[in-house]
Order: sequence, then structure tokens, then C-alpha cells
Amino acid sequence: MTQHTDVVVVGSGQAGLAAGYHLRCQSPDFTILDADPAPGGSWQHMRDSLRLFSPAEHSSLPGRLMPAQAGETYPDAGHVVDYLTGYEKRYDLPDRHGTRVGAVRRDAGRLLVEAGCGTWRARAVISATGTWSRPFLPAIAGRGVFTGRQLHTVNYRRPADFTGLGVPPAGGWGSVIVVGGNSGAQIAADLALDGHVNVTWVTQRPPRFLADDIDGRALFDVTTARRRALDAGRDDTGGVASLGDIVAVPPVRAARDAGLLTPKPMFTRLTADGARWDDGSRSGADAVIWCPGFRPALSHLAPLNLRGPRGHMPTDDTRALGEPRLHLLGHGDWTGPASATLIGVGRPARDAARAIAQLL
Ligand code: FAD
Repeated sequence: MTQHTDVVVVGSGQAGLAAGYHLRCQSPDFTILDADPAPGGSWQHMRDSLRLFSPAEHSSLPGRLMPAQAGETYPDAGHVVDYLTGYEKRYDLPDRHGTRVGAVRRDAGRLLVEAGCGTWRARAVISATGTWSRPFLPAIAGRGVFTGRQLHTVNYRRPADFTGLGVPPAGGWGSVIVVGGNSGAQIAADLALDGHVNVTWVTQRPPRFLADDIDGRALFDVTTARRRALDAGRDDTGGVASLGDIVAVPPVRAARDAGLLTPKPMFTRLTADGARWDDGSRSGADAVIWCPGFRPALSHLAPLNLRGPRGHMPTDDTRALGEPRLHLLGHGDWTGPASATLIGVGRPARDAARAIAQLL
């Protein structure tokens, strides 16, 4: 069955909800379609130990402050899920969960949005599908010969899942190699502080820790200042990368200060039972946890033929170049400065909703 609507928002994580809030203000008819059966976007799948890198009041979507979490300066992922669930209800956003969009295609001046349960014929589409469903794995020699477990950030939940690795008499201790920057440091810290496995933390580039007093608030300010400078034609201030890589969230700081978080350079290959470096050194491993990041989840947009380099789509702010009825939201700075953060997505969501209202 084909339904008609002005706008379809694909994805109802924070970006899709922020779009919904601003579409309500602009009042076109709209529907939100989301693959997950429950609200909360990717936050509902994140590890137990994850804490936001900003306090609650600096992690809010438009219209409603995130309440503080009792006993926590930096809320956990469950708190974010509760906040997003309440947000969706409060603004009565028309969200159909459990509806995965398979394709968006052009059809006689409209965009057809195809899901297993039906098709929507829309005058505009906001695609806010995040990155969580497209974990990135770098090419590395020997990945196929390694006999231990290989996971990505998306599969890591808690240290208890790793106890019992390895062979007695080492007391069931196993060895885990964690590869990657911010998430890598946090997962390595999580495992190291738990103390039941030997952890080797490996990074592609030598990691630089941000000063301990820098959290998400400062990162947002830096990103905003950079955008203002670029918009005003001034020199590029360098953005967050100019400050360093690793946010010293409390567990990372604790593990680092306890000497449990010493980075090693990237290994050159995996072997059957571990990893080997180009200086000939080796490390045994029962598991490798890959945290090298994500790519934007855009496969449903493939029929539109808009792909640019590195899996991105060329955009003017949020609007796709080559398809003025399509906006991309929340994937990263290429879809609006700090748009891949809770506090940063509100502004590009507002601009996208306004641009669509004008188009309609
Ligand atoms: P998502 O939350 O991934 O939501 C996308 C939604 O789209 C999902 O519900 C999914 O089911 C749906 N979807 C995907 N494909 C389809 C499809 N084809 N059809 C229908 N639905 C689809 N940001 C902060 O502000 N503070 C932090 O502390 C912070 N910490 C982070 C820690 C980690 C480990 C990660 C990975 C990110 C963190 N971020 C943080 C960044 C960002 O806020 C999150 O990644 C956030 O979840 C992005 O929201 P989103 O709405 O863009 O995507």
C-alpha cells in the first residue's frame, strides 16, 4: 500500500527526533520510520560503562533539557534512552518503530520511501540513520587466520563477557587487544580497571590526551568557533583535532593514572594466536576488539546515485547536492557542525526543517 505525506524522516535516534521537533514547528505532514523496535537510537545498544562526555544540561535536544541523572555528573546510555523515549512522547512524534527503509528512489517528482511494510510517497526526505549499523573494520593482514574472537565497539557490552578466557593455571586470565582511539581507550580502561584480563591498547597514531578538564562542552565550543571562523572567511582554527584525540573521561583518567593504559603502535598483522609488530615483537590474544569508528549508514539511498568520496554524500549544509528534496542529518560535521552530538544536532535539524518548509 502506498501512503502520501509531505516529509518522511528515516531514523528516530536523536537526529530524527530533533528533525521531528522542528518539523512540528513548521507544520508539514510527516512520518518518522525507524528500524529499531524501541526508541533510543543507538544509545540502547551501547556498553554498560558508557557515560556521556558532557553533563546532562549540555546534552539536550531542542525544546527540552535533559534532566540530571541522580548521582552521575555524566549520564549513562540508559539515561539517554529514557530521555529520548520521553522526548518522542512529549512532542507526540509520529514514529513507526520496527520499520526498516530498504530504498529511497525518485518517482514522478516525488521520493518513494520503501519499507517492508509499505511505501511512502513523499515530497521531501530527511535521512537520519546515523552510523551505528555500519561499523568500520580496517584492512589488516591475517584477520582471517586469527582463531580468537573479533568484535567491534558495537558488540562490546561489559568486562564480564571476557572473564574465563585463557587457560588455567593463569586463573582463567585471558588477553585482549583493543584497537582504536577514544572508544578504544574507554573499552581498554573498562577491561583494565575490571582486572580480569590482560589488556593491550593499540592505536593507529600515537594518542594525545586532552587536558583532564576538557569535556564535551569545550569540544562543542571549539567546533562552533571553527564554524564561525570559516563562515566569516577567517583562517581555519583547526577544530577539535587541534586539541588532541582522547577525551580523558573519568575511567580513562583512572586507568591512565594507574599505569594501566599504555598505548602501543598498531600491529602489522594478526597471527593465529595473537598479533605481530614490524619490530618482530608479538603478543598473544584471545580476543581483538576493533574500535576504529564507523561509516554513515546510507545504503537505503543508493538508488539516488549520490555517493561521494569516503561513503559520504556531497551536501550543502544538510541538503544533498543533486537531490534538493533530500536532507542528511546527524552523521558528522559534513552534515552540520557537531551534528553527531546531542547538543549539536538541533541547529542543523532546524535549518533542514525550514529549508523543507520553503521547498514545500
Ligand atoms: P543513531 O542513534 O544511530 O540513530 C539512527 C536510527 O536510525 C536508529 O534508531 C536506527 O535504527 C535507524 N535506522 C538506521 N538505518 C535505518 C533504515 N534503513 N531504515 C529505518 N531506520 C534506520 N554524542 C554526544 O553528544 N555525547 C556523547 O557522550 C557521545 N558519546 C558517544 C559514544 C559512542 C561510543 C558513540 C559511537 C557515539 C557517541 N556520541 C556522543 C555521538 C552521537 O551522539 C551518537 O552516535 C548518536 O547515537 C547519533 O545519533 P543519530 O540519531 O545520528 O544516530
